[in-house]
Amino acid sequence: MPHKVKWLGHAACQITTAGGRVILIDPWITGNPCCPIKKDDIGKIDAILVTHDHFDHLGTDIPELVRATGAVVIAQPELASALQKAGVGAENIINGIGMNIGGQVEAAGVKVIMTQAFHSGTAGNAVGYIVVLEDGKTVYHAGDTGIFASMELLGKIYHIDLALLPIGSVFVMDPLQAAYSLTLLKPDKVIPIHYATFPVLVQDADEFIKLAGEKAPEVQVEALQPGQEVIL
Ligand SMILES: [Zn+2]
Repeated sequence: MPHKVKWLGHAACQITTAGGRVILIDPWITGNPCCPIKKDDIGKIDAILVTHDHFDHLGTDIPELVRATGAVVIAQPELASALQKAGVGAENIINGIGMNIGGQVEAAGVKVIMTQAFHSGTAGNAVGYIVVLEDGKTVYHAGDTGIFASMELLGKIYHIDLALLPIGSVFVMDPLQAAYSLTLLKPDKVIPIHYATFPVLVQDADEFIKLAGEKAPEVQVEALQPGQEVIL
C-alpha cells in the first residue's frame, strides 16, 4: 500500500502511511468552510500535529478526537499545556510535555521533526513539521510562515518528497515567496495550501503554479481540491 497525503482544506491534512497509521496536521475540521469531512468521519487517528494555536490550525476538535481515538498530540510545550487545560490528558501528549524546534520524536511509527516557522502565536511559537514515514519518504508541512533562508538547510538535511506550503499571502507566504521557497527546499512535489479559505487570501493556485513553473520547473505541483490526495 502506498502512502497517501490528503488535503482537508486550508492547512489541514491527513497522512495515511503505508503501514496504516493516520496522522492529522492542523486539524481545523469543524468550522472550516473548505473541509469536506466531519470530525466523526475520520475514525482512526494515531497522531495529531499542531503548528500553532491560531483558530484556523488548532480548531476545536482536538480534545474530542483524542478521547475518541487515543491519538498522541505533538505540539510545543506551551500549546501542549493549553491543550491539557482544554481536556487532553498528559498521557496523550508526546513525552507528557510536548517537544520543540530541532527535536525529533517517534510516534505512530514515524519520525516527527519540529522546524521553525516565522509567524505568531499565543501559546508558544508557530512551527512546521517534517514527517519521515516508515520507508523514509519525507513530508514537510511548513505551517504558517513567511519565506526564510534556512529552508535551504532543511532541503539539504532532508530529502523532501512532498512539501505542503502556504501560498495565500496576507498571513503567510505569497505565491512568489512560496514559488521561490521551492528552490531552497527542493521537494519532489508540492501541495499549495492556506489559500481561498477566506476572501482576504489569494483565491486560487494559478499564480503559484505559473511562478513555480518558472523558478522550479523540476518540482511537480499538485494543486488539489479539498478531499483529494497525493500518493507517495
Ligand atoms: Zn496562523
